[in-house]
Amino acid sequence: MTAMDISQAVRIPEKEVYRHLAHIQRSVAGQGKELLLTPCTCRACGFVFKERRRLTRPGRCPRCRESRIDSPVFRIVEGK
Ligand SMILES: [Zn+2]
Repeated sequence: MTAMDISQAVRIPEKEVYRHLAHIQRSVAGQGKELLLTPCTCRACGFVFKERRRLTRPGRCPRCRESRIDSPVFRIVEGK
């Protein structure tokens, strides 16, 4: 799910979702699981934010300066 999906499902603001996700990331790590996110991509030029560690959506593309960035999709998987 994207933060927007989660926001709508549980009816809390999107920015609160990111706060909770940061907490979930730490708590699932203690259960041998991992919170994964797909890298954000720029809709204008296709730039992929591979190195990004933060959970939030980037504001602007470093390559084309557009701000149409796809939201990351989050999922929880069993750890290795
Ligand atoms: Zn771009």
